[in-house]
Order: sequence, then structure tokens, then C-alpha cells
Amino acid sequence: MNHFEYIDGVLHAEGVALPELAEKVGTPFFCYSTATLERHYKVYADAFSGLDATVCYAIKANSNQAVLKTLGKLGAGADVVSVGEMRRALRAGIAPGKVIFSGVGKAEDEMREALEADIAQINVESIPELIELNRVALDMGKKARIALRINPHVDAKTHEKIATGKAENKFGIDWTRAIEVYRDAAAMDGIEVTGIAMHIGSQLTDLTPFREAFTRLASLVEQLRAEGIEIRNLDLGGGLGIAYQGETPPLPDAYGQMVRETVSHLGCHITLEPGRLIAGNAGIMVSRVMYIKDGEAKRFVILDAAMNDLIRPTLYNAYHEIIPVEEQGENDKQATVDIVGPICETGDTFGKDRKLPDNLKAGDLVAVMSAGAYGAVMSSTYNTRALTPEVLVKGNEFAIVRPRQEIDELINMDQIPGWLD
Ligand SMILES: *Cc1c(COP(=O)(O)O)cnc(C)c1O
Repeated sequence: MNHFEYIDGVLHAEGVALPELAEKVGTPFFCYSTATLERHYKVYADAFSGLDATVCYAIKANSNQAVLKTLGKLGAGADVVSVGEMRRALRAGIAPGKVIFSGVGKAEDEMREALEADIAQINVESIPELIELNRVALDMGKKARIALRINPHVDAKTHEKIATGKAENKFGIDWTRAIEVYRDAAAMDGIEVTGIAMHIGSQLTDLTPFREAFTRLASLVEQLRAEGIEIRNLDLGGGLGIAYQGETPPLPDAYGQMVRETVSHLGCHITLEPGRLIAGNAGIMVSRVMYIKDGEAKRFVILDAAMNDLIRPTLYNAYHEIIPVEEQGENDKQATVDIVGPICETGDTFGKDRKLPDNLKAGDLVAVMSAGAYGAVMSSTYNTRALTPEVLVKGNEFAIVRPRQEIDELINMDQIPGWLD
């Protein structure tokens, strides 16, 4: 459920007409809906009511300060994967006690800053990383609260680039070796073992892999307890999918029920790290049609947005619904088109063989839906295209939450070596 709807034939973000926004900020731009962000967060958090659980929004999905503040006000913590993201979370006012640092390789300076900030937990993904964290913590006279991220060897049945729980994936410590690594960790003076973490992949549309993974996790916790290693925090990761193209992922309630069934008997604090589910359908990218090109074989709709702005189609063959901002009349003719960006890469294609109004013309606006997660955060300046602005809407109000970058700002970052002066 989102708050992007046609009102009198014009697509709106809540109460704001998108053509009006396009006029004010130019195109392309990302537009997020506060009501949708809030709704997604609440529905998800409610699925765990009655459990001792914290929702740590995975900020890599969309880490704009305004988005983080919106969610932080509702009580969200943050799952971060770099020191940069940690600073974003803290600066948005999320308490250190609700911040978890995940990721497959943390640098020494990142560990130091995390220990200095006294965040809730660092999730460690390998033995060398554990040894390094122990060294850094001892050097600082601190103890690092950690969870080990365990790879349960479960196939999440998702796109290969976002599957993270299989034996061949780089993530986590193989579950078959978990007990011995926990023993090592428990013997380290700079380490305080508090939890166990898992994240098996993203955009999962079925509960079965989660259930398998969490069942495995529960049995590990019991084995660890038998060894005298107390696990207080279960970090179950994120990964619950959303509808991009008519998928029917399980609802948060069903997911919450499955969590209760698999792990609640352990009596642990539970951390959840949804990213896409919160932000994905809370954002769109609005772009203007630059040209309509009728080729021999196809009609191309050439947008002013490109793969640098939204890379998911190029990177994951991801599907994003693309709709006209001016609603098409019921009896209007449709055309089958490829919707592309202007970048000199064949991969710069947002959609193939899509239906758009036959009379769509240069200057018209289209909305690329479900672009709130892994959209703006993944954008680049390839082709010296300035970073796309981001707008947050709330009711009838809107605010530019990241202005359009100046192209000269971008060029000014380059430096000329002395010998070329
Ligand atoms: C990416 C990531 C998430 C969020 O995944 P979603 O599919 O966006 O919910 C959660 N936890 C970890 C460790 C991650 O790397």
C-alpha cells in the first residue's frame, strides 16, 4: 500500500501533484511519501508487538537524513554497514543503543569509531575480523559487544546478486563452524559475545527459507547455551520482499508469526533489519520524456533519467513499473515501447516492451515506481550527470531533502597535478 495515486487524472504523492514538483525541482527527481514510510514501519513493527523486539531499519536502502528522522521518530533503530552510515544514523538522532553495525569487512577506523560511539552491537563476519576487533577494543581499553553473523547455508531463492545465505556467498561464518568460533570469541578479553545474527538475502517472496534459517539459528543458540555461551540477542536480518510486479510476498504479520514460531521460545531480544520493505514502495523516480524515437523494430521512449540515477534495472534486471503522470484515458490507444535513458550503454534501459499511451510525447512526465529503496543511495555521477535531487512529501507539503548537485561541484572535485599546470 502506498500513497502515490491519480487524483483527477494526475499522479500525486499524497496531496502533492507531481507536475507541480517537477516544475519546482526539475527532472529527474526522487520523491518519497512520509505517510507510506510511516505506514510500512508501523505495519512491520506491529507484527512483533508483544515480543521483546527492536526494528533496526537497514539504512543502506535509503539513508537520506529526512527519511531516517521520519523513521527514528517512530522508534526505529538503524542497521548500518559503514562508518558513513553510522554517522548518518547518529546525526539523524537515532540513539547509539539502537544502532547495529553489519557488513562483511570493517576497517580499523570504523571499529574505533563504533566503539567510541558505544553502539549496541557489531556483527562480525569472519575470524580475522573478530581477531582485529578484539585487538582494537583492547587497545582502546574497551569490550566490543558482538554478534557473529552466521551463514546458515540456506537458499533464499532470490536474485543471485542479493542472495547472501548460501555456502558459496561471502557473508557470515559457516554455521557448521559456528560453535568453535563462538568458543574463540568467548575467550577474547576485548570481546563480549551478546548475540547471533543472520541475513539470508533480499527480496524474499516466500517464508520457507526464513523458516529454515531461523530454525537452524534456534538450534545453534541451544547448542551454545549448552556450552555455557549465553546468547541474549537474535538479529534476524531483513530481506522480506515487496511487490514490484505483482509479486505477493508474505505480509509482515505472517512473517512475525513465523518468527514467533521459530525463535520466541528462546527468550531473547530480537532485532529485525528491514530495508526494502520500509522504503521501496515509499518512493518513486519522476522523469521527463525527452524524445520519442520510432526505430525500425521498436519505439523508444528516451527519458532524462538514466542508469546512474537508478541502477537496479541494469544491475539486477530489476522490474520497475513505469506509468504516465497524466493518467491515460480508458479508451486511449497504447503503444509497446522500450523505456531508456540517454547513457551510452545498452544496459541503460528501464523497461522493455512496456505499455505506455500511444500519444505520450516529449515533455510528458513518467513515474518509475518502487524506487524508494536502493535507488538514490545507489546513484552515481557516471557521464558527469549530477546527483538527482530527493523530495519528501508529507500531506500537502513537500521539502527538497537533497538538492540537485551542481555539475561544477562535481568537476571541481578533480585536482590537477603540478606537472600539468
Ligand atoms: C541489506 C541488509 C538488510 C536489509 O535488507 P532488505 O532486503 O532491504 O530488507 C538487512 N541486514 C543486513 C545485514 C543487510 O546487509
